[in-house]
Amino acid sequence: MVKDTKFYDILGVSPNATEQELKKAYKTGALKHHPDKNHNNPEAEHKFKEISHAYEILSDSQKRQIYDQYGEAGLEGGAGDGGGMAAEDLFAQFFGGGGLGGGFGGMFGGMNHQRGPSKAKTIYHVHNVSLEDIYRGKVSKLALQRSIICPKCEGRGGKEGAVRKCQGCDGQGTKTMMRQMGPMIQRFQTVCPDCNGEGEIVKDKDRCKQCFAKKTVVDRKVLHVHIDRGVRSGTKVEFRGEGDQAPGILAGDVVFQIEQKPHPRFTRQDDNLIYKAEIDLVTALAGGTIYIEHLDDRWLSVEILPGEAIAPGTLKMVRGQGMPSPRHHDFGNLYIQFNVKFPEKGWTQDPAAFTALRKFLPTSEVVNTAPDEAMTEPVDLEDVDNSRGGFSGATDEDESGDHEHPGGERVQCATQ
Ligand SMILES: [Zn+2]
Ligand SMILES: [Zn+2]
Repeated sequence: MVKDTKFYDILGVSPNATEQELKKAYKTGALKHHPDKNHNNPEAEHKFKEISHAYEILSDSQKRQIYDQYGEAGLEGGAGDGGGMAAEDLFAQFFGGGGLGGGFGGMFGGMNHQRGPSKAKTIYHVHNVSLEDIYRGKVSKLALQRSIICPKCEGRGGKEGAVRKCQGCDGQGTKTMMRQMGPMIQRFQTVCPDCNGEGEIVKDKDRCKQCFAKKTVVDRKVLHVHIDRGVRSGTKVEFRGEGDQAPGILAGDVVFQIEQKPHPRFTRQDDNLIYKAEIDLVTALAGGTIYIEHLDDRWLSVEILPGEAIAPGTLKMVRGQGMPSPRHHDFGNLYIQFNVKFPEKGWTQDPAAFTALRKFLPTSEVVNTAPDEAMTEPVDLEDVDNSRGGFSGATDEDESGDHEHPGGERVQCATQ
């Protein structure tokens, strides 16, 4: 015995109507009252919405059960209606966009939401690569842990025909339960106790022995990630469909983001390399040779000419010794930033050395002299103790290269 027959009346069927009869009644009613066939007819529009709503409720076995038992009151404000489907969406789902022809379907183009089939989440991994490997290029073999459809049961979870949709929850995995408190009917969602939220029931003896009815198993896959010569940090290498698999959805993708590890000698800037060289004051003034270990086992010898007079912080360039360009076939440049190391305090007490320096080194044209009429006051020059943080000059930026990233633990190096 049903509590209320309103929705059945709207569709023009009896409360015992089968799913088929409901569907037929909806189709007939929705087509007859659709606003496209009834221009400027608010009555038809209202009827169209009523029919859609009634069908939406009665076609859902859970909702129909609630309606039969408690009437419309049981359905309102409960969790899980999802706000109800718009009448047009339901209609479009039924008849498909533009499937009716005769100008009738034209208007559905915009509302027939063509969502693609859902897809497993992308497995995302940051792959840290040394600057040497980027300079030379290489192929990294990375082992990936992923879920694949169980090969034994082909994703069914058990013997063919042994897996049934749970009747208790209609395959939803959740059930709407009711609680009457005085005049109020409270609805709440709960995990279906019949199937433990699986939506399906398999007898123990028919369960797949390989995946234990989970439908997927863990698989190890080695992917070859090409590190192109000169590849930039942040470049993404994508493997479509090589990620997780699950029944009924598209296999996910795997994306490796290439990041360059910090290098002890070089800093990369686009296709250029920056190298910090420390030279003695005497080399800066009188010339000499410095040696730089490159990224491919070569050693560059760089000659500083006598009289070059490299001042602290000077930037010089060696053409073509930077990184290979990923786009062109040429190389960037190597920039050398010089730090000039002065002698230690008290490096000599030999007056002859100072006399020689005065003789050979040019005197600055700007001399700090006080005006003749000024009173001069002798003051002492002291060392500054920086250890207590009282005064700080410029500090080097701290570059740390390690990042936490989701999914990182699922990928490791298969080979070095
Ligand atoms: Zn299986
Ligand atoms: Zn169930």
